[in-house]
Amino acid sequence: MTTSRISGFYKMTLEERRAKLADALSSPSGAHLTHPEFAAWTTGGLSPESADHMIENVVGLHSLPLGIALNFTVNGKDVLVPMSIEEPSVVAGASFMAKLARVGGGFQATATEPHMIGQMQVLDLANVHLAQLSLLEHKEKLLAEADAVDPVLKQFGGGAHNLEVRVISDSPIGPFLVVHLIYDVRDAMGANAVNTACERLAPHIEAITGGRVHLRILSNLADHRLARARCTIPVNELAFDDFTGEKVRDGIIEAWAFAASDPYRAATHNKGIMNGVDAVVIATGNDWRAIEAGAHAYAARSGRYTSLSTWGKDRDGNLVGTLEMPMAVGIVGGATKVHPAAQAAVKLMGVITANALAEIIVSVGLAQNMAALRALATEGIQRGHMSLHARQVAIAAGAIGDQIEKVAARMVVEKVVRIDRAEQILKDLQD
Ligand code: NAD
Repeated sequence: MTTSRISGFYKMTLEERRAKLADALSSPSGAHLTHPEFAAWTTGGLSPESADHMIENVVGLHSLPLGIALNFTVNGKDVLVPMSIEEPSVVAGASFMAKLARVGGGFQATATEPHMIGQMQVLDLANVHLAQLSLLEHKEKLLAEADAVDPVLKQFGGGAHNLEVRVISDSPIGPFLVVHLIYDVRDAMGANAVNTACERLAPHIEAITGGRVHLRILSNLADHRLARARCTIPVNELAFDDFTGEKVRDGIIEAWAFAASDPYRAATHNKGIMNGVDAVVIATGNDWRAIEAGAHAYAARSGRYTSLSTWGKDRDGNLVGTLEMPMAVGIVGGATKVHPAAQAAVKLMGVITANALAEIIVSVGLAQNMAALRALATEGIQRGHMSLHARQVAIAAGAIGDQIEKVAARMVVEKVVRIDRAEQILKDLQD
């Protein structure tokens, strides 16, 4: 079994970490990342030539750090999680919370069937209710038509799943219909198959209703494609310094209650969840705008924007966290397929279905949420953040090599982490 526990990883040099990772992966049932795959992370993975085929007007590449979150156990299996992110503290926070969670059995995660929604807007109808029923009467025929769009997807068990018809009565242009095509996209993110199927159905919908199909596009509110994770942290594991486990637990629950009741707090609370989610989404070449859009729309589904997670306690007084959110990620298409670093990330986690990836991502989101709540509810966010932030400020001031640690450490002791101070300390060091 691959183990996600690698002690002292954070203290190692880059080379030592790569060697440790290779060791961890070379175990009999490890992920078996070969050296060329692994090397994708040394260079960033993408060549300018392949980038030139991905988007328009390419002039170069843009890199992000790639770190490995440790200690994760998801559904009883250890997993090393690649995270691509520019913000300090995120990888450390996720790893630390995963360490606490593994004492309680790690993360239990599930994902629904990978059902995406394609929308078709039907305008110019004489009677929206009549058109709605006419479409539902033709449901089987329409589903069969949509099903034929992607034979590859069909071969993997995907295809058209259901058709729903909604009346929108309170629009600025008067009533119209929205047809939802529910499509099983298996291991893809699914935008292309769904958009193609919607375009294919449009003339049939026009023929049945006598109306005009205007927009035909995927919805990012993927509320039929949810991922869920939960964890239980033994209360005594939460104790540190002068804080008892009970105090930390209750502080986390009180902090969550704030997010659950106030949209201003919920936005930041959910941003903390997305720190973890997006980092894995980006590392695997998935569309993080789609994930962001889905997450926040889902958080507002009751009409009031709220927390995506919940925190409470079980009968024994242990801390219990849950997270549920849309998770439209794929492992077969989009950038995931063409980006060598994304391929290495998928392989490192050993996931062979999009659902397995979704389960890991939502677990990281929950861990990240707990990291932020624990810090906020106890010592404040800045203490842990400052030493990492200070390093970035030191680099921005021009520090290199071991100057970075020296400048950062001095700023932390002085509790002044600013670029002008970093420049002054650097100048003193150089004199
Ligand atoms: P894709 O079309 O590149 O690959 C998916 C296809 O791979 C499937 O349709 C199927 O034909 C094939 N396939 C092979 N093996 C499969 C398996 N096991 N399971 C499922 N399919 C399998 O990729 P995609 O997922 O359709 O599209 C993702 C891209 O679309 C992302 O890059 C995203 O940015 C982009 N996009 C997003 C939106 C949006 O979010 N609103 C809109 C348009 C495009």
